[in-house]
Amino acid sequence: MPDWGQMSVKEVLVSLKTGNDGISENEARLRLIDHGRNEIVQKHKFSALSLFFSQFTDFLIILLLFASIVSFATSDPTDGIIILCIVAINAIIGFVQEYKAEKSLAALRSMISLKSKVIRNGTETVIDRSLVVPGDIIMLDEGDKIPADARLLECYNLSIDESCLTGESVKVRKDALQLKEIKNITEAKNMVFMGTNVATGRAKAIVVATGMETEFGKIARLTLESKKEMSPLQQEVSHMGKIIARVAIVVCIIVFLIGVFLRGQGIIEMFTYSISIAVAVVPEGLPTVLTVALAMGVRKMARKNSIVKKLASVETLGSTTVICTDKTGTITKNEMTVKRIFASNRFINISGEGYNKAGKFSDTKTKDYEMLLKAGILCNNASFQDDRSIGDPTEIAILVAAAKVGIEKEQLEREFTKLHEIPFSSERKMMTAIYADKQKRFAFVKGAPREIVSRCNRILVNGKVKALNSAEKERLMQKDRDMAETALRVLGTAYREVGKKENPADEEVIENKLIFLGFFGMIDPPRDDVAGAIGLCRQAGINVIMITGDQKTTAKAVAKQIGLISKDEEAITGEDLKEMTDDELFEKIKHVKVFARTSPSDKLRIIAVLRKHNQVIAMTGDGVNDAPALKKSDIGVAMGITGTDVSKEASHMVITDDSFTTIVSAVEEGRGIYDNIKKFVLYNMTGIASELFIILVGIFASLPLPLTAIQILLVDMGTEIFPSLALGLDNHDANIMQRKPRDRSERMMNKEMILSILSLRF
Ligand code: ATP
Repeated sequence: MPDWGQMSVKEVLVSLKTGNDGISENEARLRLIDHGRNEIVQKHKFSALSLFFSQFTDFLIILLLFASIVSFATSDPTDGIIILCIVAINAIIGFVQEYKAEKSLAALRSMISLKSKVIRNGTETVIDRSLVVPGDIIMLDEGDKIPADARLLECYNLSIDESCLTGESVKVRKDALQLKEIKNITEAKNMVFMGTNVATGRAKAIVVATGMETEFGKIARLTLESKKEMSPLQQEVSHMGKIIARVAIVVCIIVFLIGVFLRGQGIIEMFTYSISIAVAVVPEGLPTVLTVALAMGVRKMARKNSIVKKLASVETLGSTTVICTDKTGTITKNEMTVKRIFASNRFINISGEGYNKAGKFSDTKTKDYEMLLKAGILCNNASFQDDRSIGDPTEIAILVAAAKVGIEKEQLEREFTKLHEIPFSSERKMMTAIYADKQKRFAFVKGAPREIVSRCNRILVNGKVKALNSAEKERLMQKDRDMAETALRVLGTAYREVGKKENPADEEVIENKLIFLGFFGMIDPPRDDVAGAIGLCRQAGINVIMITGDQKTTAKAVAKQIGLISKDEEAITGEDLKEMTDDELFEKIKHVKVFARTSPSDKLRIIAVLRKHNQVIAMTGDGVNDAPALKKSDIGVAMGITGTDVSKEASHMVITDDSFTTIVSAVEEGRGIYDNIKKFVLYNMTGIASELFIILVGIFASLPLPLTAIQILLVDMGTEIFPSLALGLDNHDANIMQRKPRDRSERMMNKEMILSILSLRF
């Protein structure tokens, strides 16, 4: 590999002809022409030819081919030829339908295209990952998938999961220091590689190689494409087909033997009969129709903003019994506006909506809030300009609030230089940025109120630092609750001076003995349609649980607004969870709808407990640490807009609008698709039963063969495949969400269906 890691940052920038502001858009276009798109060219795994031949590998089709051989050998070869033609037509229809389905699934998968944050012309922009070029400066955050090979310029607490490249599951710590010698990629601690993930921290890096020139491209691990897995229903139908085929063979042999030996009928005549029986009972179109119906369902779901990655998930969705959902962004709009601040022991209200600077502070006489705003802006990775904003909505809201009194990030960044960052994580629920001005170093901290207040021993009031005792801390927490009760999302901020001898990376020291500055209270209104969707879930027997990192009071207030809970129902916090046994937790889950102050590991525990009790769980997640919970749940739902790359990869379904309602409509669609499949399986099987009935009556009444094999095949073609496809697309019942969820262990071909096929169910 080139010795990028052995060069200094300056040398790398020079040799890639990149300035501190990144490259220009024009330059990027030229480099894109030179180096090509940043893509791994995958060997075409999905070949049309293999799909076509796979049509002939079905056990049922093999049986038909066998029947045609027997026809050739025994009777008029035209019968054999016609059977072959019919098999071929069947295969072509199957091939065309499956090919279309496969193509549209591939197109859907590419809709979850990943983006990258780059700095071009000094401005941070989000671009499609395939457009990243060598020399681009990229910004990396926790949960990002690294878009290309890059040399680190700056990094904060960065660790990378390189397992997909090295097979090593331990997270690798990285830093931007120049190295003397690098023998292999595992030693390249100042480099990050395409395809690996940011496990913790943040970084700025310069791209040194893209596409097939990356380490990932070179070793061309092109087996990323997931294996074609059969859904449980496809397995059941395939299994059913095999049983039917076996029964058919046995019946054919018996009929043949009875005819020839007991009744003395001609061998050729009895062969023809037997073949007709085999042909009649083979549901040759069923597997194709099933795949097509599932794929059509997936397409329909995509139109409603849910991208399902595997066909199997469509069925699972239909049997969902519990939806575990985040609050921020899924239940709420994630359009934060700071409405109230608390500083110097006073509340100040702020007018204005959304990311618009128009708005006023209710009191600007004293400037006690300035330090609060400064801390909020400097401990902040978002950017906000008039027409565009990038980053976490919570952080953008703080920038907007400060801009309302003329405090801007750019201006502060000229005064202060960033030295280090202890990044935010859902476990820590806080973050810290360390800055230096001309004389001193400061740590600015923001996070969940409890985390902040508990780490403070002083408070800034009217420009003076005073001691903070535990009674005063409790009083501050009461202020927090007052704000949270009105459904405000509350964030605390604090700061401290960092001594010359103190290490900015030492969390224990830096995030301790802080000076409390105040609270930001922001509204994040619930999505308009969530209350309706929650009502629908209630009717459909689906238990909805809100699992949020936010505090209990805010979570309960929002839950009340959307009708998830009424009055003062119990809510459980992450701390309470630790005290409970699994059995106690399961008892609680039956009626508790709100879990607050949770961390990703709590989600994992809730899933484990629910699974133990045979629940089918759809669980949302967006952070890197949500990946295990997403994988473990039956339907892991990642957020298309705010979700990290890692969460999207770990999920079964991505919702492109991040909305809870979309999950509910996907469940509804899943139920509808299952119903339709059931309808056409029933239709198909009833047709088979009728054909078999006619033939068997013919045989036992010693009548001439009522339907020849060819006639049966022709009738099947006209009456099986096309009507089945139509049934597969049928609109679902209006009352589909008024039923309880289907039992996952329930077999489609159950007693009820068998009785229906035999017309014995009245
Ligand atoms: P949900 O889990 O429903 O998505 P959430 O965003 O509140 O909600 P987390 O992202 O786990 O959950 O955040 C947990 C807590 O950390 C938040 O309630 C908030 O107090 C605090 N927090 C969130 N974002 C930031 C941030 N950018 N900087 C500092 N603290 C934050």
